[in-house]
Amino acid sequence: MALIKTVRKTGFTIAPEAGSQRLRDVINKNITDDDILQTVGDAFEQGWKVIKLYFMIGLPTETQADLEALVDLVQRLKVIRGSGGRRPKINVSVATFIPKAHTPFQWCPQISLEESRRRIRWLQAQLQSPGIHFKWQNPEISMLEGLWARGDRRLSDLLMKAYAAGCRLDGWSDHFKFDRWCAGMAACGIDPDEAVFRGRNLEAPLPWDHIDMKVTRDFLAAEFEKAMKGEATDDCRDGACQNCGVCDFNLIQPQVHKPPAPRVSGRPASPPADKTGQLDKHVLTFAKTGSARYLGHLEMAAVFKRALRRAGIALHYSQGFHPSPKIVFEDTLPLGMESLCERMIITLRQPLADAAIVQRLQPQMPPGLSILGCEAYRRRKADAVEVDYRVQLMGAAFQDQPLERLRRQSHFYIERTNRKGRLKKIDLKAMLTKIKRVPPEGLEFTLRHQLDALVRPADLLRHLFNFDADVIRRARITKLKMHYGPRH
Ligand code: SF4
Repeated sequence: MALIKTVRKTGFTIAPEAGSQRLRDVINKNITDDDILQTVGDAFEQGWKVIKLYFMIGLPTETQADLEALVDLVQRLKVIRGSGGRRPKINVSVATFIPKAHTPFQWCPQISLEESRRRIRWLQAQLQSPGIHFKWQNPEISMLEGLWARGDRRLSDLLMKAYAAGCRLDGWSDHFKFDRWCAGMAACGIDPDEAVFRGRNLEAPLPWDHIDMKVTRDFLAAEFEKAMKGEATDDCRDGACQNCGVCDFNLIQPQVHKPPAPRVSGRPASPPADKTGQLDKHVLTFAKTGSARYLGHLEMAAVFKRALRRAGIALHYSQGFHPSPKIVFEDTLPLGMESLCERMIITLRQPLADAAIVQRLQPQMPPGLSILGCEAYRRRKADAVEVDYRVQLMGAAFQDQPLERLRRQSHFYIERTNRKGRLKKIDLKAMLTKIKRVPPEGLEFTLRHQLDALVRPADLLRHLFNFDADVIRRARITKLKMHYGPRH
């Protein structure tokens, strides 16, 4: 706990899963009320101000008494005071239990939508109290998750139907379209009562029986029966083998690794500075092409951080409350766009030559991300002023008329909403300094790079050529070159 505290202290998370000891025994969750009370007390003592608790509702054999025990546990945690007598905040998150394939509960019914809502409503009413923040997972999402957790091959059709009906990013509540999923289920002949909310017979074949996970069905059935009686199973890592079927004790057997010796501090050491007090900063140029264009900005940053770590190149960390590696990307590429000229600045803990950085880093990069060069960082005397792009259409063609129209007009205004939600009018013609068709279906153009009026190639395709979202998504857009001019 002291070690965690050195790096991050915003919230301490505990997952009791169930409110009563009886139900925790059913799911083999080896943690007692006393453990939870003690841990929360210690966390408050250590200075944590927020405790996050995760529970499930609808666990097999759950009764009203278990829900009451959950409320009682949270109320007992609520009265614990931290150092200085301050009352900490408790976040309680609840999700509906989803029985999953290849587990002892694969034969259990998932609780119905109505029952899920009823239990959540009841908990919400009981836990309405200052200092307690109650959150829950949408029961409709849990229902769909339950469907996918134990579905059969009919789900392939459902997936295609839901996609065709416009279902995307369903994990985000503002994009979740339950009615379309229901329509898809009806069209595929999938009855949720039968697929999700029904218990399975222990002898009946299951859609995933042909997948060998090594854990035997007999073991899962025996565990299921033990769970129903509330009998716990020892962990074979520090107890006897339970004969689950995974190990052959030749190639496969449990191996418990010793935890590494604790470090004195979780924070990376401060970097050495040279005689002038300068940190060792470098500018890396890299290309992002092929399938790597589907890496989002944060994913790409994670890829670089891991590659640098594998290359043995230690980054300098910021020294604030949440230390983070010093790595700065010059641009945030839209998802799907390729680039032959991306730049990033890294700050190292130990000085390293430019050539050594490239030599060590390149072998660690995944396909599609390649290091083009590295140079010592110098404060730029120039800003990016223009960017060259190339667009190659797939299954569509550029017409000459929009280009003709643009030539004739003195302005071509488009509207964009900025991050603050304000509508902004931008003259596309003024931002476009060159444009030419590249047969057969290509287009090359240069856009001014102006942060307060940023125009991206997709804007050009949408507003000037009137292409729909599908054509734009399929187009191969490549950022070719950045041009720099004097700083303003
Ligand atoms: S030791 Fe291997 S076979 Fe025995 S219970 Fe553990 S994982 Fe299963």
